[in-house]
Amino acid sequence: MPIYEFRCSSCERRFEKLCQLGETGKKLTCPECGAPKPERVMSGFAPKSVGKNGLSTPMGGTGGGCSGCSSNSCSTCGH
Ligand SMILES: [Zn+2]
Repeated sequence: MPIYEFRCSSCERRFEKLCQLGETGKKLTCPECGAPKPERVMSGFAPKSVGKNGLSTPMGGTGGGCSGCSSNSCSTCGH
């Protein structure tokens, strides 16, 4: 069974709960204030965007560079 993260819409408390697949939180209650129907937080399931900065190695050998370099005009390292 997956662990979902929920957020209480009443007191904004976030908590994780092991529940059935597809659980939307309608049957759950907040452990803090007891308010029903916490909101399910989906952020943990979003795919990480590796790719933009994952390929940060400078191509072409323009002489070093920082991790933010994608071209020869980098404001971070100034080369
Ligand atoms: Zn609450």
